[in-house]
Amino acid sequence: MQRVQLNAKASGFARRGQPWFYRDDFAAGEQAPARLVRVVDENERDLGLGITSTGKLALRLCGPWAEGEVPDRETFFGNRLQAAFARRAMRLGPHDGTRLVHAESDWLPGLVLDRYGPVLVLQATSAFVEQSLDAIVPFAADALKATTVIARNDVGARKHEGLAEEVRLLHGNRVEQVTIVEHGVRHTVRPFVGHKTGFYLDQRPARALVQQLAHGRTVLDLFCYQGGFSLAALVGGAVSSVAVDQSQEALDLAAAGARDNGVQGLLPVHGNAFDFVRDARGRGESYELIVLDPPAFAKSRRELPGAERGYRDLNRQALRLLAPGGQLLTCTCSHHMTLPRFEEVVRQATAGLPFRVVLEQRLGAGDDHPVLLSHPESEYLKALLLRRVD
Ligand code: SAH
Repeated sequence: MQRVQLNAKASGFARRGQPWFYRDDFAAGEQAPARLVRVVDENERDLGLGITSTGKLALRLCGPWAEGEVPDRETFFGNRLQAAFARRAMRLGPHDGTRLVHAESDWLPGLVLDRYGPVLVLQATSAFVEQSLDAIVPFAADALKATTVIARNDVGARKHEGLAEEVRLLHGNRVEQVTIVEHGVRHTVRPFVGHKTGFYLDQRPARALVQQLAHGRTVLDLFCYQGGFSLAALVGGAVSSVAVDQSQEALDLAAAGARDNGVQGLLPVHGNAFDFVRDARGRGESYELIVLDPPAFAKSRRELPGAERGYRDLNRQALRLLAPGGQLLTCTCSHHMTLPRFEEVVRQATAGLPFRVVLEQRLGAGDDHPVLLSHPESEYLKALLLRRVD
């Protein structure tokens, strides 16, 4: 049986739920890479299963299993996938977009699996998962009656495991786009080419909130991409939504989305959002609801100071565009920008404003992207709902 023993210090972390370990953490049992192994602590007590890797992350824990056994890949993935799907049973309707597997949070490190109605899109970021696709794909396709399974393996993390970046059809017929429906809002998902696995599934709670708040209001959607927030706002009864992005293709998709939903009032603006917020103030514009959802400014810890300046400036400018009583939904998807840090940056952005700003709500990714509390890395998306109070 394949087995890894952690040293005393690492064993303590493992007992507290930390899932990631390095080669230095091993007491014994240097293993062949990309294997499912039993893990034990310094006193030979069971720590469940793990997967090994030649990468820096030499061992990732993947949960309990009947003592003494190492299951074959079919049995292991069948068990873990079934449990992950069961936890999302209420989100498996024919037009739902749902994250079905959220890596460590579902005891499946190195695997993300998203469902867009009949289309499944996966991301494999560990060699073990990559080599197990013949166990994963047929099981998932069958359990979910999927017509299509696609690998969106165009993610940088693959290089740590010696895997090439690629996008390919794994099962069924090629589907260029599919429509999902969220609270009556139709969103077009492009599984082969859209951002992430085709869509920003993680912002579902924030879109639902915007849909509720938008009724009868003027909206500004900064960094709109294909207009997910604008469509939610307009279906929710917004008077208009000014949607700003530097990508014309994204704006064309947003316009197509508005037609598809039968809504009017989308006002696409092609340009740099930093310039837009500065110039809009010069023109005396104001908005009753603003969504600020930029790309991750801090891809690494080193970039954090520059990123903080970017967030601070943008948030200050956006707050200045709020009409009295207006609300700003401000987001960050940088792992490195923790919630306390983000709140501090936003607090600094309010300094010197001629009105008060209150924090009304904190949001994160939806319940299909659960955060493993003992693995803070799994919490990346934070959003704050602020209101201008005069
Ligand atoms: N809010 C979107 C996701 C944003 S993705 C949603 O919910 O779907 C980030 C978007 O920001 C991309 O579409 C990218 O084209 C755009 N972008 C990046 N830098 C920009 C800039 N400086 N000005 C305007 N748009 C920018």
